[in-house]
Amino acid sequence: MKSPAPSKTKKLIKEALGNGALRSAVFKATESSALSRQKIIDQIPYWEDLRDKAHLIKKDVIENLSKYLTQFERNCELNGIAVHWASDSAEAQKIILDIAKQNNVTKVVKSKSLTTEEIHLNDFLKANDIESLETDLGEYIVQLNDQIPSHLIIPAMHLSRKDIGELFAKKLGVEYTEDPAQLLLTARKILREKFLAAEMGITGVNFAFAANGSFCVVENEANAHNTLSLPPIHIAVMGLEKIIPDVSMLPYFLKLLPANATGQKSSTYVNFIGGPTGSAYGEGPEQIHIILLDNGRTKILKDPVLRESLYCIRCGACLNACPVYQQIGGHAYGWVYMGPIGSVLIPQFLGEKEGRLSPFLSSLCGACTTVCPTKINLPHHLLTLRSRIVDSGNSKFIERNAIKIWSKLGSNAKVYRLMSRIASFFQSKLFFNSPLRVPGYNKERQFPLIHSEGFRARFLKMNGDKKNG
Ligand code: SF4
Repeated sequence: MKSPAPSKTKKLIKEALGNGALRSAVFKATESSALSRQKIIDQIPYWEDLRDKAHLIKKDVIENLSKYLTQFERNCELNGIAVHWASDSAEAQKIILDIAKQNNVTKVVKSKSLTTEEIHLNDFLKANDIESLETDLGEYIVQLNDQIPSHLIIPAMHLSRKDIGELFAKKLGVEYTEDPAQLLLTARKILREKFLAAEMGITGVNFAFAANGSFCVVENEANAHNTLSLPPIHIAVMGLEKIIPDVSMLPYFLKLLPANATGQKSSTYVNFIGGPTGSAYGEGPEQIHIILLDNGRTKILKDPVLRESLYCIRCGACLNACPVYQQIGGHAYGWVYMGPIGSVLIPQFLGEKEGRLSPFLSSLCGACTTVCPTKINLPHHLLTLRSRIVDSGNSKFIERNAIKIWSKLGSNAKVYRLMSRIASFFQSKLFFNSPLRVPGYNKERQFPLIHSEGFRARFLKMNGDKKNG
């Protein structure tokens, strides 16, 4: 299913806010994820050092991306891994389709990968008569439900057990149950058959190592392991920013990622892929292809401020910490990346017109940054994007002009004082000293009370009080 457009986010938020079951499921899940995370972090006294180190590694990678990617490409080729560069979704889709056609592939299994969601791979393969099945349980559920994931780590976070029981009964023809163990058994039985029949496996990449041309996929369900080891062909789709210099730096991330993502000390499986069968590594599929996807990343790279958003390792912790995400879930953001990091990425990937509302989906409380393992300054980037969206004329006409008028009035002391007095007069005579009613604005918040004395008089008085105090 294609993700809805972020420009429709207002409508999507209204729908989410009106859906009590969704809000309750998302709130419970984010709260419990945040608590599990905290429990683990409390046991890691050097947690802040890990974050500092990860930030520095990512900074180095992003500043020297082309050097590391060239090194990675060279070493992959030495290992027998075919490297393909894709500038956008269409190119990545075409590369995958060509490989599938050359090898008569009609059945694909996939493990969870946001990068493949970004290029709408399942829809594309389906349109080309290739069955593409998600094998991560949460992803399998949202695929059955014809949806995209609503969370970076917990794709079916928005659904209750009841929802999933009803979905399985309707789509798989099994008896209704809410028992997670039974639901899991049903999915497992179907997926095992699919793993054995698949001619191609597609995964994402968590970390790739420039120094030796290998990469790793981190997971908990062993579905990625089956996806990349059972079918004879493996394609890994990797965002350019997933590279790190060498495997010696992985342990920092292998501590930070599971603690932040799922509240685990370590992930259950870390799969290392070093080359096809017959290569120095000796195991795995006969063909391995890696697609290095740009899709807007090099544009972000050129931005000296916002390029920090490429440090993201998609742990999902900022979503769980965000008071806005906790109320509306992921689908309301309208794209595959959601929550605070989604709000920063959407305008950069999709443009300031399409993503004009996304940076405003934040209270700027800063909770996201305090949990981010790579210390991305998300509120700062949200503010930068807000200001760029206003400057580029993509904000609302009324808002734009109201601010222009306000700035004109505010820069002339006499006019400002006069306007304050008029507003204060209206407030006392027409609204009986209650806050002014401002159409539109009042739908979401209350207008602040205007002080009868005015700012200047109060400021001088306060200063006088201080001097006398
Ligand atoms: S921005 Fe930071 S906290 Fe949010 S998903 Fe990315 S790495 Fe995790």
